[in-house]
Amino acid sequence: NGKIRIAIAGHGNLGRGVEAAIEHNPDMSLAGIYSRRPAGQITPRQTETPVHGMEQLRSHADQIDVLILCGGSKEDLPQQGPELAALFNTVDSFDTHARIPEYFAAVDPAARDSQHTALISAGWDPGVFSLNRALGEALLPDGATYTFWGDGLSQGHSDALRRVPGVAGAVQYTRPAKDAINQVRKGGRPDLTPQQMHLRECFVVLEDGADAETVREAIVTMPHYFADYETVVNFISAEELARDHRAMVHGGFVIRSGTTSPGTTQVMEYSLKLGSNPEFTASVLVACARAVHRMHGLRQFGAKTIYDIPLGLLSPRSAEDLRAGFL
Ligand code: NDP
Repeated sequence: NGKIRIAIAGHGNLGRGVEAAIEHNPDMSLAGIYSRRPAGQITPRQTETPVHGMEQLRSHADQIDVLILCGGSKEDLPQQGPELAALFNTVDSFDTHARIPEYFAAVDPAARDSQHTALISAGWDPGVFSLNRALGEALLPDGATYTFWGDGLSQGHSDALRRVPGVAGAVQYTRPAKDAINQVRKGGRPDLTPQQMHLRECFVVLEDGADAETVREAIVTMPHYFADYETVVNFISAEELARDHRAMVHGGFVIRSGTTSPGTTQVMEYSLKLGSNPEFTASVLVACARAVHRMHGLRQFGAKTIYDIPLGLLSPRSAEDLRAGFL
């Protein structure tokens, strides 16, 4: 039917987000979901979507144009990325920033030798935010770049809260510090540490009989996680936690503050306010899958990052249509 046939490897939050995103892209179809868990444990959004074991991927190679890898960055992708890039064109959201060069080096030969195109580390950060940081630096060489995260739910910090004795349930939001953002927006170039740029707000449900002040003290003094930040702790009921804090909100700002002649400041700003982190990340991955399919057609093999994608290839429109509509 001429549609780009997408498949999903790994069905967590991101995998479910990819299913939703494909529904908004009529030039694509969902060929199947592949999981390490038994098919009975996977509930696709559309009941007719085929669900298979991951081991069946190899024999389905001719049914899939691009495989979107939705496994976790810590344990899954370092293994699945190189393995699957040897069999498919792939897109993934590997987000351990410090290990991206190492991951690229592992995926690249697998994709190159088998003549596949493998886009790594797409999403919003790394991903669309990385693009905006590079653009800011290129356009305003005399300047400074600031990335503020939030308001966002931090999975890692929420887990850390739940390990504090006396805590029955908890979530943590990272919020950008308003004073710091305002300084940068005005064209200033302050030296700011991540601790000065962000504050941490916690919503905590206490176990029966736990002392609120003891729990608060244990949280705000926790090294690495909270001790260096301005941390606010709110105590709420289990009902409030379940009712008000389920959405995986996130977002942030990339701001480049630069100077083009003495006294002339220029400020570039890109912001995201995400109602669902995984659904937005998945939307980026799906647009990138279109570009990967086209780059593969152009015989651009090997590992790629978002910097290597010509922007027009992300769009469902033709180059001609884009010139007529947007330029
Ligand atoms: P999840 O933990 O929800 O899913 C990861 C994998 O775990 C799944 O692919 C799935 O594999 C397995 N899994 C999911 N649910 C279960 C379950 N109930 N029991 C057992 N296994 C399960 O992670 P997310 O989908 O939220 O995120 C995936 C990655 O996306 C993150 O590690 C992060 O690195 C990245 N990310 C990147 C962003 C960016 O901007 N670049 C932004 C957000 C996330 P299987 O089906 O094979 O069991």
